[in-house]
Amino acid sequence: MRILRRKHRDPIAHLDFHPTCDAHNGTCDRVAKYVVHLHGCENSLLCETCLADDLEWADGMPTIECYHCGREAESFQELATVSPL
Ligand SMILES: [Zn+2]
Ligand SMILES: [Zn+2]
Repeated sequence: MRILRRKHRDPIAHLDFHPTCDAHNGTCDRVAKYVVHLHGCENSLLCETCLADDLEWADGMPTIECYHCGREAESFQELATVSPL
């Protein structure tokens, strides 16, 4: 009878993975809480603070523009959908 040796794996380790925020070219290292789908141009992960900053910035603008395709919108919500991670 043979005994199969198994690699030791910590079953919790992979659940403990927290992706970090993509804002500011990935220099923000807070834990990402939201996925922002930019109408197919981009999907990015944002922390609460950076999402709030983006929403505040968009609120102060008459129109905002997608920096990928140049599509214009009057609100952040019109340009992107946000879902919790
Ligand atoms: Zn952030
Ligand atoms: Zn776009």
